[in-house]
Amino acid sequence: MKGMNDLFAKDLQTRRFVCSKAIHVFENYGFSEIQTPVLEELSLFVRSVGENTDIVSKEMYTLEDRDGTKICMRPENTAGVVRALVENNLISADQEAKVFYIGPMFRRERPQKGRLREFTQIGAEFLGSPAPSADIEFLAMIHDWLSDLPIGKIKLVVNSLGQPDERGNYLTALRAYFEPLTDKLCADCQRRLKTNVLRLLDCKNENCSKLADAAPSIHDYLGEESSAHFQTVQAGLRNLGIAFEISNRLVRGLDYYTRTVFEFIAESGLGAQNTVAGGGRYDGLAKELGGPDVPGIGMAAGVERMVLLLEENGYVQELKRPDLSLISADPAGRQKAFDLLFALRRKGLFVDFDHKERSVKSQMRRADRLRSKEALVLGNQEVESGKAVIKNLESGETREIRLSDL
Ligand code: ATP
Ligand code: MG
Repeated sequence: MKGMNDLFAKDLQTRRFVCSKAIHVFENYGFSEIQTPVLEELSLFVRSVGENTDIVSKEMYTLEDRDGTKICMRPENTAGVVRALVENNLISADQEAKVFYIGPMFRRERPQKGRLREFTQIGAEFLGSPAPSADIEFLAMIHDWLSDLPIGKIKLVVNSLGQPDERGNYLTALRAYFEPLTDKLCADCQRRLKTNVLRLLDCKNENCSKLADAAPSIHDYLGEESSAHFQTVQAGLRNLGIAFEISNRLVRGLDYYTRTVFEFIAESGLGAQNTVAGGGRYDGLAKELGGPDVPGIGMAAGVERMVLLLEENGYVQELKRPDLSLISADPAGRQKAFDLLFALRRKGLFVDFDHKERSVKSQMRRADRLRSKEALVLGNQEVESGKAVIKNLESGETREIRLSDL
């Protein structure tokens, strides 16, 4: 299907590399893994991500369950994770949760480089602390992970969207600014003006972007506490030596964000789809989903984009090489090779055996193709003498061994 890929060993190994680095760093920061279903009730995303966001209004794969319930393939996973934590009573005023997930997400977008309809996100959610130090720790974790990968230069951009009332006042001001300019906006922005005015700020259309340059700034609408929060986050990042830029135009596409929002952006290699990871604080989300009033901060990163960046930066994932190819010259040798195959595998070695009864030469060619490290040729003579020759296929050196020593 369009925008949904079949994946083979090489792709999967590169993904595994990205994921294993994430798991290593996230676990050191005290995060543990969570997995939630791919199918969720549609209403979950309407309530959290927001009815008028692109994701919910245009991009979801929805279907009706046999009992009439509207369900969908999850387009993101913060909502699902928070739902799971609430349903399982894993968060409360004095119980924090630090979780991460890896899994497929689905959005019916126009497929292009770095944009698929089925894609994989690695994400993390930290619920339970409203403190700016939580934001700092969280951003440092993502920074540590990304800087441990050979993916070129990544820049961190941060902004604050304030508390709901501050954001509300700001939205009113934005609408008032853009309404007289309606005729000059692109068709999408004319719609956004009515439904999701924040999104006007990150429209890629040149005209809209120019008009947005002179729009009111959210920073003038932040109250004292939100301002202080934002300043403390910035100071904390500086303290840790984490470079960042501030953009009052960074708004993110989802309704649930409050205060800190951020993106990690690749400086080259991805074209227009250059955001590797994004996220923000969502202090009202757990309550909105029927849970306790517990604040949180989360992020999601696109694995496919990171794989593209790794490739762009010359990272090559080699397939696993056999330690040994067992090669047989005759029926007695083949029987011995077959016995050894299992004995050696049970010792933990990657051993290859050719089931086709072919010549020694073609078995050797197979060993070369698989890039085996060593080859052992077995025939009647070796079986009888109990001695054989192992050839190192890299150096060409040979050494004699006793079969019983293997
Ligand atoms: P974008 O700016 O690319 O539209 P977004 O704001 O929709 O991103 P989020 O919902 O925040 O993205 O998802 C977080 C990350 O997941 C993105 O930064 C990106 O790396 C990845 N991602 C999002 N949508 C897709 C997609 N359709 N295909 C591949 N990766 C995606
Ligand atoms: Mg998007």
